[in-house]
Amino acid sequence: MYELETETENVSNYVNHLYEMVKHRNPHESEFHQAVKEVFDSLIPVLVKNPIYIKQRILDRLVEPERFITFRVPWVDDEGIVQVNRGFRVQYNSALGPYKGGLRFHPSVNSSIIKFLGFEQIFKNALTGQPIGGGKGGSDFDPKERSDMEIMRFCQSFMTELSMHIGPNIDVPAGDIGVGAKEIGYLFGQYKKIRGAYESGVLTGKSILYGGSLGRKEATGYGTVYFVEEMLNQHGMSFENSTVIVSGSGNVSIYAMEKAMQLGATVIACSDSNGYIYDPNGINLETVKRLKEVERKRIEEYTCEHPEATYHQNCEEIWSIPCDIALPCATQNEINSSSAQKLIVNGVKAIGEGANMPTTLEAINTFLDHKILFAPAKAANAGGVSVSALEMAQNSARVSWSAEEVDSKLRTIMKDIYKQSLNTSIDYGVPGNLVAGANIVGFVRVAEAMLAQGVI
Ligand code: GLU
Repeated sequence: MYELETETENVSNYVNHLYEMVKHRNPHESEFHQAVKEVFDSLIPVLVKNPIYIKQRILDRLVEPERFITFRVPWVDDEGIVQVNRGFRVQYNSALGPYKGGLRFHPSVNSSIIKFLGFEQIFKNALTGQPIGGGKGGSDFDPKERSDMEIMRFCQSFMTELSMHIGPNIDVPAGDIGVGAKEIGYLFGQYKKIRGAYESGVLTGKSILYGGSLGRKEATGYGTVYFVEEMLNQHGMSFENSTVIVSGSGNVSIYAMEKAMQLGATVIACSDSNGYIYDPNGINLETVKRLKEVERKRIEEYTCEHPEATYHQNCEEIWSIPCDIALPCATQNEINSSSAQKLIVNGVKAIGEGANMPTTLEAINTFLDHKILFAPAKAANAGGVSVSALEMAQNSARVSWSAEEVDSKLRTIMKDIYKQSLNTSIDYGVPGNLVAGANIVGFVRVAEAMLAQGVI
């Protein structure tokens, strides 16, 4: 016992020291530090059990991206004025397969955001059990208020540089915030033109008109709900007759709402970056889909068609509404500890992270301390990238599977991720702590592959 305690202390010191080094090497990158800290905190028991990981410097190697690319993206707007954005791609880890991860186009994008997303993607992708490494990319370009032609010119310029670094067996980008099937289409067109070859598997999230997978659009949101349903079932609960809040109104949010409704829940609120709507009768999803997917309007407009609903400008306040299940599906750090407290006081039973890192470290600990069921992002939102990997498989085999086939594979994957995360949390003495369970499962898979491949 004494030895184990000493060993744990030694390992904690090593991990703390490494964390300080990460901060020193990547100054002012608070989101990246946060993502690293969350993973590091989960791994101490694994490192105690497997000293080889320390000896071989697996963690030291993991935190350093294999490659980090930044580039200039010049383009001409509709007024004929030259605009300059910054492009990024982090090729974080290729132990398990080609780098895989989305592109985010949002004004908040910087190296910290890209590194946090890329770092998390390594473990998320490992959790899916598919042969994919971790990567991420994007730009500080803001597609909001831009015309279709401006978006096209931006995407073409972005891909002119990115095409030098990607390929179906090298690095396979997809969508994220601000990048949907439309942007993927423009990116794919430019890649094809530059390469002079039709390499379907270079991007995922493509339209089903030319090599996309049925079910990819719905996959992240549906997957989150499948995962949370597993977690609820384990504790004798379900979505049936529950009230649910889903932040955001983008791709993840819309399909999380759809699946939760299909499973018998009433979704009473959703949001966009300006504010949230509260509809006590249950959100009308057709209206949200039309406003957001077709007309690209603000969520505020919802109340014009549904006068019983109210609109509120403070996004954070969405978490003050009493609900059984909260699904943060908007963006990073949208639930802080004071929002967590409010949710708990109002009787929330489960949290499912559809977005990447939507809950601060303090808020996660608040939920765990209060024994609230908590489905962490790397596990709960892995459905999107899982179906991306299925899209790659279909592209390689030149086949396309039915929506039912894809959905049933997605369900199986989400169930497996849940089971493995839960069992691992039990094995490591933190039963039900899925944050630790998921981080450990993902880490061990990557670490073992890195060991097998030598120091590279
Ligand atoms: N951006 C999504 C994620 O955060 C999907 C990535 C992909 O499909 O490659 O996992």
